[in-house]
Amino acid sequence: MASLLDNVRGDPVRLELFLRSFPKGADLHNHLSGAVYAESFLKWAGEDGLCVSLAEKTILSRPCPKPAEGQENAEALSAQPEAWNAMINALSMRNFVPTETDRSGHDHFFATFLRFTAAEREHQGDMLAEAMSKAASDHVQYVEFQIAPIPFAFLAEMLEHTHLQSVQNEQDFQVLYEGLQPFFSQILAQAQTAIDEMEWRAHSVLKCGTKQAASACNVAVRYQYSALRVFPAPFVFTQLVAAYELTHRDPRVVGVNLVAPEDNPTALHDYDLHMQMFHYLNQRYPGTNVSLHAGEITPALVPAADMDHHIHAAIEVAGVKRVGHGVDVQWEHDSEILLQDMAKRHILVEINLTSNDEILGIKGADHPFLLYRRAGVPVALSTDDEGVSRSDLTQEYKRAVEAYHLTYDDLIELSRAGLEYGFMPGASLWADHKLGQVVTVCSGDVAHIGTTTPTAACQHFLNDNMKARLQWQLERAFSKFEQDMSHNVLLGER
Ligand SMILES: [Zn+2]
Repeated sequence: MASLLDNVRGDPVRLELFLRSFPKGADLHNHLSGAVYAESFLKWAGEDGLCVSLAEKTILSRPCPKPAEGQENAEALSAQPEAWNAMINALSMRNFVPTETDRSGHDHFFATFLRFTAAEREHQGDMLAEAMSKAASDHVQYVEFQIAPIPFAFLAEMLEHTHLQSVQNEQDFQVLYEGLQPFFSQILAQAQTAIDEMEWRAHSVLKCGTKQAASACNVAVRYQYSALRVFPAPFVFTQLVAAYELTHRDPRVVGVNLVAPEDNPTALHDYDLHMQMFHYLNQRYPGTNVSLHAGEITPALVPAADMDHHIHAAIEVAGVKRVGHGVDVQWEHDSEILLQDMAKRHILVEINLTSNDEILGIKGADHPFLLYRRAGVPVALSTDDEGVSRSDLTQEYKRAVEAYHLTYDDLIELSRAGLEYGFMPGASLWADHKLGQVVTVCSGDVAHIGTTTPTAACQHFLNDNMKARLQWQLERAFSKFEQDMSHNVLLGER
């Protein structure tokens, strides 16, 4: 495999063929709304009879039976190639080139979410089906989608009942938490219904459980509840309470995240307060899996004082098990000690190469990908927003191979890390995944997994442990991939 990869690493087309089939354990950083193509949002807007503002390049949440100047029915848009194309470009990073009025990749990227949000509401299940299909065609086994299943209006109403205008410390958190407590059963009911409906719709689109079931039905899916960091502190706390409560009570939701631009003025100003909120809620809900967007900033974006501690605080105060992005690590204070600590505590960094290039302008040798690996910090590749970026996990692997001259063993390690550090329940198959040592109950050389069937005791262990089961499947997938590739005439030396 090492020499096959060397044969194709200089040939982007054959490298793509090789990497697309390569089994990728997990996509641990995937925002469901950002995973969808603009074309789908426009199509659904058309089906729902929504209006599009061509002037603001935004899908509106209402119909326009008689479109005003600068508006059009979404349904009519596909017959107008110029307007259609302009909308696709505005709803994604397609064809993005900085111009006088749209000069920042960062701003364009984040603005897309506001432009398509009106089409999301009724189509969570369709979105999930599309994202699962992408995962299947990418040979990804497991995805943790970031979702926010409770409408903001509902959370805002809960907050209003507490009459709390600001939160600054643990005492305030306590008061607000107790004020929200009477609504917990409603929170749970709302969120579970939303997830039930989303999954029911996705499974029906994919025909899961029937003879025509799409391969996407085999993709294992779990969720992280993502709270938005750009709101006033009491509302951020309210979202986090809902997130922890749901993660605690619904096994499909396996973790909590905090998202949206880290350089937003409110997000920056309240960063440390947000970390305190996590600290407080971790005590209330021990063992909760937290992954945070931390260090998605550069000196070009924010002042030095904001660059020096976000990853530190996410780890030391918010108690994260994983870090999303981590791009600013070399600018944090005592970064050498920080990296040693992350390696020692096995804190994984979810690396999003395409997104970091598009939003932060950081790529290739300027990205700390190799620094993390040099320091022994676990990393996995993920997509972030594959629909907005019009990318996928194969492209992330391709970027990594091309930029960092990865070997086949490196690819295996990255793919395994995705499952090893996933928040899904269950014990790991690995006693030591770096050394290739499998747990005693399934003992034996890892190389044999591909060709042997598990013993009864091992099968029992796999049945009981979702993580180990996925890991076993991944090893078998590697074995099948290697067999297929070794017979693939396209991958020869010339
Ligand atoms: Zn993200």
